Parts: sequence; structure tokens; C-alpha cells
Amino acid sequence: MPPADRIVLIDDDRVVGEIVSGLANSMGLPCSVTRTPDEFFSHIGPETSVIILDLVMPEMDGIEILRLLGERNCKAHIILMSGINIRVIETAKKLAQSHGLTVIGHLQKPFPIPQLQQMLTANFAADKPAASEKEQELEIPDEDLYGALERKEFVLYYQPQINIATGVVTGVEALSRWNHPKLGLVFPDHFISRIESLGLMDNFCWATAERALDEVKQFSVVNGHLPRLAINVSVSSLRDLKFPDIFMNLARKYDFPAERIVLEITESGLMEFSLALDVLTRLRMRNFQLSIDDFGTGYSMLKQLQNVPAIELKIDKTFVQHMHVNHADLVMVEKIIEMGHELEMEVTAEGVETEEQLKMLRERGCDGVQGYLFSRALPPAELLQWLENYRAQRLN
Ligand code: C2E
Ligand code: CA
Ligand code: CA
Repeated sequence: MPPADRIVLIDDDRVVGEIVSGLANSMGLPCSVTRTPDEFFSHIGPETSVIILDLVMPEMDGIEILRLLGERNCKAHIILMSGINIRVIETAKKLAQSHGLTVIGHLQKPFPIPQLQQMLTANFAADKPAASEKEQELEIPDEDLYGALERKEFVLYYQPQINIATGVVTGVEALSRWNHPKLGLVFPDHFISRIESLGLMDNFCWATAERALDEVKQFSVVNGHLPRLAINVSVSSLRDLKFPDIFMNLARKYDFPAERIVLEITESGLMEFSLALDVLTRLRMRNFQLSIDDFGTGYSMLKQLQNVPAIELKIDKTFVQHMHVNHADLVMVEKIIEMGHELEMEVTAEGVETEEQLKMLRERGCDGVQGYLFSRALPPAELLQWLENYRAQRLN
């Protein structure tokens, strides 16, 4: 019998195997990648600390594997993974728990690598289950989310985007916040995925776009020209073939030119979306600009990248924040800048918090920056004030 490793993965997808073993190696954790149930069970032993399990495989489904693990009284911590609907993963999680198994997380494919990294770090740091996702989540009943939309409790904060070379504010990114009557200001990590799973994303998306278009014009008084407005768009909204026309009508209603609107779509979202490039192309034909957000965290999509009509790549903040201490992160930053420029895209770095990071990005030819070094996302009135101060400082 081969020696049991700390992490055992079972997935019939070779790419996932490569990603997981690469990550485990970089964290110094021995890992076995298996593709069939026989192979999988031959690697499971008392040393196995984490099992990463794909729920949908051709030979035997993950549900059956969970049952067998339960019968073996398996004590390893399980991470469930699948490209299917999040509800199915949640059901599988309950089932696993009913077999006496410990599930420490789930990943919906294509998942951001840092998400898995975080689960593994938490697991091996404490060698006990990572704080369950539920514990970190706020307890928010479904009705509250429905009500919040109706009562327009979702608001927008804006973060300035700055051109590195000139120091000029080129645009603002609209970031949603929930003004919760009891909990105070709630951040998107606590509600975006909930809105998505309740099927409310369309309503949310249009309410957000409308609010942003209504509010953004006031920022032009400072610079004398309209700022670019960056809006985060969930890939589920883009599945609607009418999306480009509805957005166009909205932009007309607020008399805001489409070419000043940047739709930010995450890299992992785009991967899922790669079959429906038609909506993206239609958006470009109507002059909307596209930006690929969180770049570097999804699966490599070099091939698809050429076909996506985006004008911008946004380097994920996890790379930016560690590039001065971690050579691998610096290499990622450099390569993303190079690749973006080769594909004639602008490259923006997010999460810039220090002068040192800004300098490193400038030296490497990055075009734009966003981050706490300049400003956090602010409510409209505060951003207006910030813009005025920033301009006054630059003129001095
Ligand atoms: P994102 O689009 O990648 O936005 C960047 C996040 O980084 C924001 O978090 C921002 O506040 C934060 N950030 C900016 N500068 C810095 C920095 O220097 N350091 C650090 N540590 N963080 C920085 P936020 O506002 O919590 O948003 C989280 C995510 O939620 C966003 O990530 C975006 O994916 C999603 N989101 C926000 N608003 C919307 C929305 O209206 N619609 C959709 N679909 N998603 C949204
Ligand atoms: Ca964004
Ligand atoms: Ca991002």
C-alpha cells in the first residue's frame, strides 16, 4: 500500500489535480492526486488530514464515496468540490454530516485558488476543522434580503482609480454595501452569494446600475470630466441575452455614455461563461468596456483570454499585497502586466496599500492603481470631499 498522504484529492479532472498538487507542494503539504475510487481508497489512511472530493465523477459519484468514508469512520476533514449548483453541494454537505463526517468547506468550480489555500492554511495551522463557514457568516434570514431590496437598503461606496503615470483620478469603482437597520454596514462578502442563490441577482444588478448611474455624475464637478464608472457584474446576469440592451437603455436614461462604463467580471466567472461570448461581444459593440477582475486567481485561461473583448485586466490584490516579500507573487504581477500589455489591455492593480507597492508597480509599467494608499471605498459625499482634497494637494 502506498504511504498515506496528508491531503488526498479525488477528481477525474486532470487540471484540478495539477492545481491542487501544485498548491499543496508550495505549502509543503504532501498530497496524493487520485482519479478513481480504487486509487483513492488505497491512499486513505490514519495520517490523512484533508480529503478534497469532487462530487461528480464518471465511475462513482462523490455521494457514494461519502457513504463509504462514513462506514470507515473516517476522521479526515473533507472539502467538497463541484461545478454544479451550490445547493447540491450544500445538500451533499448535510448528507456527509449525517454519516458522521466533518466537512470544513466547499468549492464551487472554477474556484479561486486562494480560497482553497485559505482552507488548507486554516486546517493545518490549528489541525482542527477550519472555523466553519457558517460561523463566519452573519445570520441573515432570506426574508431580510428580499426586504432589503424592496426598501433599497443596498447602497454604493466608491473607490477612486488612479493612473500611475499621471496621478490623475480616471474613474471610480462602485462597491455595494448593505445599510442594515440592525447590523449596521454589511460588506458584500456577506450578501452577494446569498443574493445569487436566492435568484435575486438580476434585481440587485439593475438596482445597483441605476443607483450608480444616478450618483456618478456628481463626481465630474471636480475633474471637469466624467469619471469612468466601474461596476461589478455577476456572471449570472450576463447569461441574459437582453442584458446589453437593458443596460444600454439605462445608460441612455441617465445620459451617461456607454464608453465610460466598465463592467468588471471576475476571471473565474468568465471561465464559466466562456461558451457565451456573444453577450460580451454585444456589450463591446455597444461601446461598454469590459474588465477582467481578480485576475490570476482562477484557472489559467490564456487561450480564452485572447477571445474576450476586454480592455482591462485587474491584478488580484492577493498578489499585490505579498509581491514585496514573495517572489512567486511578484512574478505573477510582472507576467500579468506583460501579458495584459501584449493583448493591448490596460493593467490595473488593486489592493495597493503602501508606497513601496506603488513604486514596484510603477517600475513594472502597471497602468492603474486602486487601494487604501489612496482611499477606501467611500459614500458619495465623502468621495466628493476626497476628490477635492486630492486635487488641491496635486495642484500645490
Ligand atoms: P472586488 O471587485 O475585487 O473589489 C475589491 C475589494 O477590495 C473591495 O472589497 C474593496 O473595498 C477592497 N479593497 C480595495 N482596496 C483595498 C486595499 O488597499 N486593501 C484591501 N485589503 N482591500 C482593498 P468589498 O467592497 O468588500 O467587495 C468585495 C467583493 O464583492 C468585490 O471584490 C466584488 O467582487 C463584490 N462586489 C462588491 N459590490 C458588488 C456589486 O455591486 N455587484 C456584484 N456582483 N459584486 C459586488
Ligand atoms: Ca471589482
Ligand atoms: Ca478584484
